[in-house]
Amino acid sequence: MLESSEYLHPDKECLSHEEIRALQVKRLQETMRHCMNNPFYKKKFEEMGVTPEDIKSVEDVRKLPFTTKQDLRDTYPFGLASVPLEKCVRLHSSSGTTGNPTVILHTQKDLDEWANAVARCLWMVGLRPSDVFQNSSGYGMFTGGLGFQYGAERLGMLTVPAAAGNTLRQIKFITDFGTTAIHAVPSYVTRIKEVMDQQGIDPRKDTKLRILAIGAEPHSEEQRKRIENMLGVKAYNSFGMSEMCGPGVAFECKEQNGLHFWEDYYIVEIVDPETLEPVPDGEIGELVLTTINREAMPLIRYRTRDLTRVLGRTCPCGRNHIRLDRMKGRSDDMMVLRGVNIFPIQIEKILMQFKELSTNYLITLTTDNDNDNMTVEVEYNEAPADMVALTKEITRRLKDEILLTPHVKLLPLGTLPQSEGKAVRVKDLRTVYQ
Ligand code: AMP
Ligand code: ZN
Repeated sequence: MLESSEYLHPDKECLSHEEIRALQVKRLQETMRHCMNNPFYKKKFEEMGVTPEDIKSVEDVRKLPFTTKQDLRDTYPFGLASVPLEKCVRLHSSSGTTGNPTVILHTQKDLDEWANAVARCLWMVGLRPSDVFQNSSGYGMFTGGLGFQYGAERLGMLTVPAAAGNTLRQIKFITDFGTTAIHAVPSYVTRIKEVMDQQGIDPRKDTKLRILAIGAEPHSEEQRKRIENMLGVKAYNSFGMSEMCGPGVAFECKEQNGLHFWEDYYIVEIVDPETLEPVPDGEIGELVLTTINREAMPLIRYRTRDLTRVLGRTCPCGRNHIRLDRMKGRSDDMMVLRGVNIFPIQIEKILMQFKELSTNYLITLTTDNDNDNMTVEVEYNEAPADMVALTKEITRRLKDEILLTPHVKLLPLGTLPQSEGKAVRVKDLRTVYQ
């Protein structure tokens, strides 16, 4: 590995558009041929009368059927495998709140390619074998644990599988092992800083931290800036999902101008969630991903439910892999209050503009006198001089953003529940009228 190179896989990262598209067509045809081993896809392709030879350009992916989370549930556990089970060496599962969990199978080649993708992301943001990488994700079925572990090892870093929680121990590792990089969900970074403050540890002086990978949950640009200032680090957005392996699907480069999705691994589409037709670049729609580099369980046109938009297809970093905006949320996260559509991230964006506030907040929806109401509870860092005036100003700014007047409550630090995994931002206690 050349320490001086900006690119870990220059032959893939620096492809031109034409080269990316040619590779995608070739890999999509191969993926289709491979998927024919699977009765589910074989039947779907036959019903639609589409064969690998029909794929002549990347846009021809639109001739193929969509795959949904429900399809994964209906074929639980192994129904979407395209290889015999004896070729598989691992599975990950994500538990849904309803019905069957979903299972993703991996061959050894899949795991190798996954580790390569994560290593590529980490290298891109400037991590090198001399770094010490601490992973605060839960290990086990959750892909953020093993996914980052193997990727960071593949890059050659000393990798600390600290796992989730036990913040005191987490901080001891950071100081004792000279941790330079952490992967964490954004909400957990705040917790680490709170405990550091209690311990009298100054991250700038007492640690070697320099780079954070933050992801697994939606967060705003404002929250990223908070995290960077709080710890004196660079924080890069990391996007992944278990259906697409896990982490390593997309990452920001040093330009911090959107998420590069690796187009040698995935074909990216943004579609209107209602009509399922493609939306023009710049417009928000649902992210649809097709795996074109997977063996055990390729997924065709997987509807992720994540909402985002195309920002660009070139980048000053020299990579032409498509850049998408940070996720606005999932279509299933959208709150509809008195007919107004609201995403939690809109609220976060406003809250984070107040330096008095911490990054911990909770939105509660209730029904009072047949009306939907929203309460926004948020912790402050230090008791503000004029609590009433601050509450009023926050309420006013939120109203400008979401067009409804929420009930705002300011609370001392440490009052709201802290989750060790993905943060729970919305509690919907509304009565449902049929
Ligand atoms: P899981 O399969 O449990 O890893 O969850 C995947 C989901 O987490 C994605 O579909 C997104 O909704 C969310 N997610 C992951 N990474 C990010 C990120 N960087 N920003 C926003 N949402 C994310
Ligand atoms: Zn870039």
